[in-house]
Amino acid sequence: MNLLGLDLDALADFCDGLGEKRFRATQLFRWIHQRGACDFSAMTDLAKSLREKLAGAAKIQALPVVSTQRSADGTIKWLFDVGDGNLIESVFIPETDRGTLCVSSQAGCAVGCRFCSTGHQGFSRNLHTAEILAQLWYAEHTLRRELGRQERVITNVVMMGMGEPLQNYAQLLPALRVMLDDHGYGLSRRRVTVSTSGVVPMMERLAQDLPVALAVSLHAPNDTLRDHLVPLNRKYPIDELLGACAAYQVHAPRDFITFEYCMLEGVNDQIEHAQELVALMRRHAARGLSAKLNLIPFNPFAASGLRRSAAAQVQAFAQVLVDAAIVTTVRKTRGDDIDAACGQLAGDVKDRTDVQQRMSRQGMLAGVPVVQVASAQTR
Ligand code: SAH
Ligand code: SF4
Repeated sequence: MNLLGLDLDALADFCDGLGEKRFRATQLFRWIHQRGACDFSAMTDLAKSLREKLAGAAKIQALPVVSTQRSADGTIKWLFDVGDGNLIESVFIPETDRGTLCVSSQAGCAVGCRFCSTGHQGFSRNLHTAEILAQLWYAEHTLRRELGRQERVITNVVMMGMGEPLQNYAQLLPALRVMLDDHGYGLSRRRVTVSTSGVVPMMERLAQDLPVALAVSLHAPNDTLRDHLVPLNRKYPIDELLGACAAYQVHAPRDFITFEYCMLEGVNDQIEHAQELVALMRRHAARGLSAKLNLIPFNPFAASGLRRSAAAQVQAFAQVLVDAAIVTTVRKTRGDDIDAACGQLAGDVKDRTDVQQRMSRQGMLAGVPVVQVASAQTR
């Protein structure tokens, strides 16, 4: 049993099976997640007999690290091996007032978005809870050691690495619980963000189970275009998706939902698209939705056949939204020099060139807001 994959209740059940009381599970949980222990013998406040029992029945198993790349801007990207030739990555993005970790939820992705290299490479498998948490566990404790810090380094987690987190809900939920647990990473619900391409039924589940902050990858102002860019739209079209967002907002830790919009030259970046987006957001505002728009520069990769919108076009697009009092942020990618602009990769590493291409894919959330175009509305 890999204890990295258990939330506190599950760990308590496991300890119960060993004849141990719940407070022992809490101690053990704190050793693992707060102190980064991976060796039971180091847990000196646990009885020797318990440590021996644990060593016989359980392990704390991290993921093998394939590479660590550091950008001049401080961004760090780790590549982890999850077996069978599958690689996943996590990206740490330091800012003055916070440290964000971008975490993967799947090896590959089944949604198949046109502009995403993970989508192009297809779905390999879901990550286990332990593999999701191993990314945070490793990043947090490695950074603490490197920086000589006792207190937490990672203050925010975004589920914006590889994969569609809401298509791996069963494994995601316990991982989120550990991130939020005061005995675990102690992050507040507003500092943990799940990003989704719009798996409506699972958004409803998350609202009930553990409503963390939500980001929705919109990318288009109408169904025809979104059907093409984000094929999941054929199942859950825009009106249904935005309806689910309004319902989520009632439970959400922030009073707005973030919408991601990847700017693709000549595809979704025209002024008419911005106007259509304004009309769409107005219609749903009347139904209770408060939206914040994040415009993300597309990170090109060869197989996509798509191009990044020109900066002036992004600004003009943003201005239409701002003039309509929609809170809009233009993101800048981080870690470009190490291809960590939120790149994802998966599959094998046999073909290095191919991997390099995949690595230089994305723009997503490794971008940080540099141009706060407007905060015309404050809530
Ligand atoms: N599957 C989830 C979370 C992972 S993708 C989702 O789609 O929301 C995280 C973000 O990166 C999404 O907003 C996605 O649209 C964006 N993204 C994917 N490929 C990109 C690229 N090549 N350039 C810029 N952003 C990209
Ligand atoms: Fe999957 Fe998100 Fe990439 Fe779409 S953008 S293919 S949902 S990881």
